Amino acid sequence: NDESDWELGDLGADGQLIDATPVPVVAIVGRPNVGKSTLVNRILGRREAVVEDIPGVTRDRVSYAASWSGRRFTVVDTGGWEPDAKGLQQAVATQAEYAMQTADAIVLVVDGTVGATSTDEAVARVLRRSKTPVVLVANKIDSERAEADVATLWSLGLGEPFPVSAAHGRGAGDLLDVILNMLPSTPREAPALGGPRRVALVGKPNVGKSSLLNKLAGAERSVVDNVAGTTVDPVDELIELGGETWQFVDTAGLRRKVRTASGHEYYASLRTRAALDAAEVAILLIDASEPITEQDLRVLSMIIESGRALVIAFNKWDLVDEDRRYQLDKEIDRDLARVPWARRVNISASTGRAVQKLVPALDGALESWDKRIPTGRLNNWLKEVIAATPPPLRGGRQPRVMFATQAATRPPTFVLFTTGFLEAGYRRFLERRLREEFNFDGSPVRINVRVRD
Ligand code: GDP
Ligand code: GDP
Repeated sequence: NDESDWELGDLGADGQLIDATPVPVVAIVGRPNVGKSTLVNRILGRREAVVEDIPGVTRDRVSYAASWSGRRFTVVDTGGWEPDAKGLQQAVATQAEYAMQTADAIVLVVDGTVGATSTDEAVARVLRRSKTPVVLVANKIDSERAEADVATLWSLGLGEPFPVSAAHGRGAGDLLDVILNMLPSTPREAPALGGPRRVALVGKPNVGKSSLLNKLAGAERSVVDNVAGTTVDPVDELIELGGETWQFVDTAGLRRKVRTASGHEYYASLRTRAALDAAEVAILLIDASEPITEQDLRVLSMIIESGRALVIAFNKWDLVDEDRRYQLDKEIDRDLARVPWARRVNISASTGRAVQKLVPALDGALESWDKRIPTGRLNNWLKEVIAATPPPLRGGRQPRVMFATQAATRPPTFVLFTTGFLEAGYRRFLERRLREEFNFDGSPVRINVRVRD
């Protein structure tokens, strides 16, 4: 069972469980005798090693509660999975598959004094497909002199090999820092329930939110009352569009208009914030027939802060003539430059023009928002980009980008490990290239830089 993913928390004074939140899982994989158990003991800070010196001795796969820098996590030692009749390569590949399905981060341990063996290569091939971040550890690097040997392990295609000596502790603290940074800030989510995707319809007053909602709900006469196995908040509305059911959040608040002169904006902004919190993707309505205003941009800022996927719908397109269209293009360049990635559609809630185009736009934005780039692919791409355009010097020194990993989805969040500060211009350059390569249309992308010193 999956009990090992859950660690029971401390008991309070009255015996109540005070914390039973799931903790992230780190799996240690690798062929026998590379030092996995030694590394686990090092991570746990235990001296008395449970290490077997005899290869082939069967141990049970065990998980241990660990913590580092105040963060709790679970370490799973795959040391006990010994080769069966199918052979060593198969057994280690199976470990890796299991780790990919269950862990939040994977540590592949190889013997740095031996280099990559064919078994290491087989497991690396499996892990290069991993959606879970992988760190490659070159173990048994007991001295600085031995460090030169590990460069050959780049050939495994898993990024920079991390030299450690599990037996002596060399590099172990740095390794733990790297591992913790790869872990999602919230532990692995429960599998999606397959419920409807949640949409927030937002925009300043009078842009046509209720009109659009009525159009969408009315067009296909398809306000769905209930979907088997889902509970829908009574303030939400299920609407079927393009063969999918969508959950429009807080439509009650949208229909209940607060028209008092003072406070209207305030309540509108509270509603917007609550709707964004509840949603996965936002449709920002902008009145295309009028100049873009401060109020539009305030709503846009709230969406950006929320990290939600975004579709911009220019409404009242039936009122837009050539002149206005020309003006609008200029306003878009000026005011929406922060979100070049947002998907855009021109619609009319009154006439129903192009409202069906919202569906592929929403689908695409959510696909980007959910997307995960495997660590191997990400780093292969990064190496090329950096080789072609290295980061600018700072204080006469060249910051080195060692590797990157996608630490989270929804929205996609990347962590770059560097030896120095990367200036904003270069980070934007990397984001642009990342978007070109992997297509995150419709979704914000976050890039965090972690300087290792
Ligand atoms: P596992 O079975 O793959 O998990 O490997 P073990 O942790 O049992 O270690 C295999 C052997 O390698 C043992 O004899 C360890 O003492 C040795 N070993 C582990 N880590 C290191 C290290 O950092 N340096 C050296 N020199 N030996 C190590
Ligand atoms: P909300 O405050 O954002 O919910 O906006 P409403 O849906 O109440 O619309 C405000 C006004 O704009 C109403 O008079 C609507 O009839 C009008 N309106 C909404 N959508 C369109 C449209 O696509 N074209 C035109 N011409 N008018 C629209």
